[in-house]
Parts: sequence; structure tokens; C-alpha cells
Amino acid sequence: MRSELHPDLRWRGNQAVLAGSLLSLYRRLDAAFARLGTAEQAPEVMYPTLLGAAQLAKLDYFRSFPHMATFACNLERDPDNLGTFARAAGVDAQGAVALTRLAPVTEVLTPAACYHIYVDLAGQVLPAFRTVTTRATCFRREDHYKPLERQWSFGMREVVGLGSSEDVKAFLERGRIRVDRFLEALGLAVAWTPATDPFFDASRNPKFLAQKLSPVKTEMVHQDRLAIGSINFHRNFFGETFGIEHAGEPAFSGCIAFGLERWIRAVLDVHGPDPAEWPDIAAAAQDAFGE
Ligand code: AMP
Ligand code: ZN
Repeated sequence: MRSELHPDLRWRGNQAVLAGSLLSLYRRLDAAFARLGTAEQAPEVMYPTLLGAAQLAKLDYFRSFPHMATFACNLERDPDNLGTFARAAGVDAQGAVALTRLAPVTEVLTPAACYHIYVDLAGQVLPAFRTVTTRATCFRREDHYKPLERQWSFGMREVVGLGSSEDVKAFLERGRIRVDRFLEALGLAVAWTPATDPFFDASRNPKFLAQKLSPVKTEMVHQDRLAIGSINFHRNFFGETFGIEHAGEPAFSGCIAFGLERWIRAVLDVHGPDPAEWPDIAAAAQDAFGE
């Protein structure tokens, strides 16, 4: 379905189709954030779409965000089961598949780009501060969807740093200064806002209490309503969980995450739908992230 927002956007009810000028804007924004990675000597890695449920379970993801998970499932490979499925009508009026028995579900569709990085580095000793950048199509089930703002699947670019607490904090601080410069060059502004995860129940959940004492997530909030990115200090949570070591202790880590469709939304809000009016993303990235 065509969207009112822009002629190059089509809306599938929970996911966006990007074409023409919007696809080009998406790619230029992603290239700009990858450039922030380059400024931090971060090699780029492309991970698969599926992430092991066992890995996510180690993060307590299913306890914290059960409502968000999207599972990849297959039918049990037994001829009767497959036959029953094949003979059924397929989908009902709501578009729901009439599933028969499922094979064990062991994979989840990636909910955040950076999880793959910690899984990849599991069991390693990092001799020095390490950075990595990656882009992923991420999947989060939300209670409602809105084009470019709240989607079931969306693009996320992240730059991650791992090492000592001081190195990670300095990396995040440099990132914040560079993102501010980038925003300024684009004619955008955000309010940097400490965030607490609304899912955590203050009275019961120690993670929430810890977060209250020292905010770990700071969001880039556009027009007081839309978080277009976040800067996260994880302490040594991922280092401990995945056995990543630095200087004889679990590595500290932090990530800088950008929601690509939301950045498109911010550009459209501020500069309008005509690509001729949009700022030069590559030039802004050169100003902000160039050496
Ligand atoms: P988070 O890891 O929650 O900080 O997510 C990183 C960024 O992804 C957020 O700041 C948003 O810009 C973007 N994001 C998160 N959820 C969605 C969604 N459902 N649809 C579109 N973008 C999202
Ligand atoms: Zn992250």
C-alpha cells in the first residue's frame, strides 16, 4: 500500500518497503554510521539473520522481553505431519497459517544487531580495546506499528567497543560528540535522554534498580517523541555472560545504535519529502566522522 508519508514508501502493515530516493537515503545513512565505525578502527562484519535461542537465553532475553521475540520455526519433518500441513487450506481469513507439529525451535530472528558480536567473541581474551561495526535487519514484535517509526523489522547499524571500563566510556563519549556533530551538519537536533526499560518492574527486578543508580542507556530523542538511536554502557554484562576477557577480568562493553528508518523519518520531518531539499549525508559524515 502507498503511504501518505512519501511516494517511495510502501507500507505492509508492520514493515516498510523502501524504493528510489528513500532506499538511497537509507544506504547513505548506513554508510555514514559505518564511517563512525571506521573512525573507531572498527572492522565491519556481517552476521546471519538467525540467532541461537540458547544464546539469547543466556542474556535473560526471554525473561525480560518475551513479548518482543520473533521465532524462526519449521515443521516437524515427518511425512504424515508434512502431508497434513500440505493438505490444509494454508492460511485463514486473517492470513494465519494452519501449522501442524513444529520441529524444535532453536533460533530467533535477531532482535538487536550487537548481540551477534558478543556471541562471536565468546571465550576470547581481548589483548586491547576492540571495536566492531555491523548492520542487521532486526525483528521486534511491538503492540502497534507505524511506518518508519515502529516496525516489526527494521534496519539497525551499531558500533560496539569492548575493553576496560575507562576505554568503553571514552569510546561512548567520543561517539556522542561525533553524533552531535553529524546531527548539526544535517540540520537535525536530538534531546539526549536517559532511558529506563519500561518492561523492568522497579520493585522486583535488580536490573532496573541497577539502571536507576547509573543510567546505562541514553537515547537520541527526535522532536520529543522518537528515539532514533541510543548509546549503551553495558558494564561487564556481556563480557561475563559470554566469557570475553580483557586485562584478567570480564570485558566491559558499550554500543552506539542507530535505527535507520527512524533517521529517515527525522530527515523527512525536518527537510520535507523532496530529495533536492535533503542534506548531503556523505559530506556531513565526512565533517563529523572524518579524521
Ligand atoms: P535499542 O537497542 O532498543 O536502543 O534500539 C536501537 C534503535 O533501534 C532505537 O533507538 C530505534 O531507533 C530503533 N528501533 C527500536 N525498535 C524499533 C522498531 N520497532 N521499529 C523501528 N526502529 C526501532
Ligand atoms: Zn547494541
